[in-house]
Amino acid sequence: MNLTATADVSAAPRDILREVFGYGAFRGHQAEVVDHVCAGGDALVLMPTGGGKSLCYQIPAIARHRAGHGVAIVVSPLIALMHDQVGALEEAGVNAAFLNSTLDSHQAQAVEAELRSGRLTLLYAAPERVLTPRFLGMMDALDERGHLSLFAIDEAHCVSQWGHDFREEYLGLSALHERYPRVPRIALTATADAHTRADIVTRLALEDARLFVSSFDRPNIRYTIVEKDSPREQMLRFLRDEHPGDAGIVYCGSRSKVDETATALSAAGIPALPYHAGLDAAVRREHQDRFLREDGLVMVATIAFGMGIDKPDVRFVAHLDLPKNIEAYYQETGRAGRDGQPADAWMAYGLADVVNQRRMIDESPAEEAFKRVQRGKLDALLALAEAHDCRRVRLLDYFGEASQPCGNCDNCVQPPETWDATEAARKALSCIWRFAQHPGGPSRFGAVHLIDVLRGKVTDKVTQFGHRDLTTFGIGADLSEAQWRGVIRQLVALGHVRAEGEFNTLELTESARSVLRGEVSITLRRPTEKKRGGSRRESKAPAAALALDDEAQTRFAALKAWRGTVAKAHGLPAYVVFHDATLAEVARTVPQSLDALARIGGVGAAKLERYGPDLLRVLDEGVA
Ligand code: ADP
Ligand code: ZN
Repeated sequence: MNLTATADVSAAPRDILREVFGYGAFRGHQAEVVDHVCAGGDALVLMPTGGGKSLCYQIPAIARHRAGHGVAIVVSPLIALMHDQVGALEEAGVNAAFLNSTLDSHQAQAVEAELRSGRLTLLYAAPERVLTPRFLGMMDALDERGHLSLFAIDEAHCVSQWGHDFREEYLGLSALHERYPRVPRIALTATADAHTRADIVTRLALEDARLFVSSFDRPNIRYTIVEKDSPREQMLRFLRDEHPGDAGIVYCGSRSKVDETATALSAAGIPALPYHAGLDAAVRREHQDRFLREDGLVMVATIAFGMGIDKPDVRFVAHLDLPKNIEAYYQETGRAGRDGQPADAWMAYGLADVVNQRRMIDESPAEEAFKRVQRGKLDALLALAEAHDCRRVRLLDYFGEASQPCGNCDNCVQPPETWDATEAARKALSCIWRFAQHPGGPSRFGAVHLIDVLRGKVTDKVTQFGHRDLTTFGIGADLSEAQWRGVIRQLVALGHVRAEGEFNTLELTESARSVLRGEVSITLRRPTEKKRGGSRRESKAPAAALALDDEAQTRFAALKAWRGTVAKAHGLPAYVVFHDATLAEVARTVPQSLDALARIGGVGAAKLERYGPDLLRVLDEGVA
């Protein structure tokens, strides 16, 4: 099989998919996008994280290069990741390069020479680089010869101030269209909302581009939201039961919590690294690098970590604190399972989360109109967290997509028991009201004291303030503490109660009346008692190795060890050499020849030629 000579290779997208990337079929809208762009059309592509955006421009770039149209320029804001992206293409036998500030002048000149020669298929560069007079000059020369094949603008939402990742430099990119009107453009993003989309269209002058909107569903991700009671132990149990040895991300709301959690995980024998904006840039880079390159590391991070993390085998994303809104939640959880294998999005959520997020909005210096929008977004997230029905239906509904119960979220897998908490809610509200009427003490108290009074517990505080005299003392002894926490959390989530000040003391809002008058009914999920077992995975093995029997496991381990040495020698993350899924299939099917190996997903022609014999040898030795 000699596919290295360019003369006799196909420029048909399906052939390229098979030959270069080793995949048998396009996913979702990929085929349509690729055909449209290959034919010279402009496109705006909205696909969820992990949907497969890269192939949407890489295959047209290869096809158009093979048809004599020259080089594709890929604009990406993520300098740190260009190296790995280019490395992955090179592994697949594609002539790609990047130009950014990490290159010295000698290296940069070599890339520029390669660019001018017309041999390059793809060049990655940051927007500020693309818009320099020097770079524009080189592109002018290429364009004159008809050697600019395509502009791909990745993370296109960076052009919008509405997005959370606005980059000033992106605004200049409309110049590309003015200067090179004949060169097709494809803009890609995973950010869906209408406002951002409109911004992308106008700011990048994509009015005539065809719009491709994919479903935002990520069916391989299982969504689970648990009530916080002892978050660290809950998380440890989740990691040990469901994800031993897996790579994953744990998101925390603050830097100090990141540090504490990473330390706690390490102490518990789970290899973990911290990542937040308070760490040295060099330390951050090193931690990110290790996370990408090593197997089975847990990254504990603030939201500073994540954009462009395209590690495909992140098996779980855990939230120890509530994100700001559903957009953020979906983007963060979307970093799990980009390889399409089963993955978990797990979150622990409690009263303090509701209180903190509400307070952050209330205390922010923003305008009232902006705060109103933020409150609305938080309410939507809280409704998701409190939901008793399918989480995915709610998530997709939020993004404007109708769907049916998914069978792959906590509520679908194990429908929660609920109870009517209307009466309990009224008791809690009236107790808060009694505090305010009671003479001789503060008029407001926090949740802990409220629960003590409702349950009739005689504490020092109860004695000190004479709260045994309240008519509400002990009226809720029939409910557990966890149930009361749920009631209060729900009341705060619904806005009937507000938590104020340093001690989060509780106070009724206007809308509490409607509950007290019995006009609103409240249904709560029954707190799940600490479950023993209940894990859906029988095996303690990492997810990608799941379907493998013991012998296949041994082969899989041998293949991974071999991959590790190759990746190290090439200075690339292991998944760039082969994905777990590919190695698992090799281990399961034990191909006996290069032809058989070539039929496995993820084994393209270049990798077959370069690594095929090695893979067969490792299998041989593994079997022997
Ligand atoms: P995105 O950029 O949209 O988050 P990627 O382009 O990184 O997604 O693709 C996610 C993963 O899916 C990658 O590991 C990629 O190799 C894989 N992939 C993409 N398209 C296909 C396909 N048609 N068949 C098999 N795997 C694919
Ligand atoms: Zn569901």
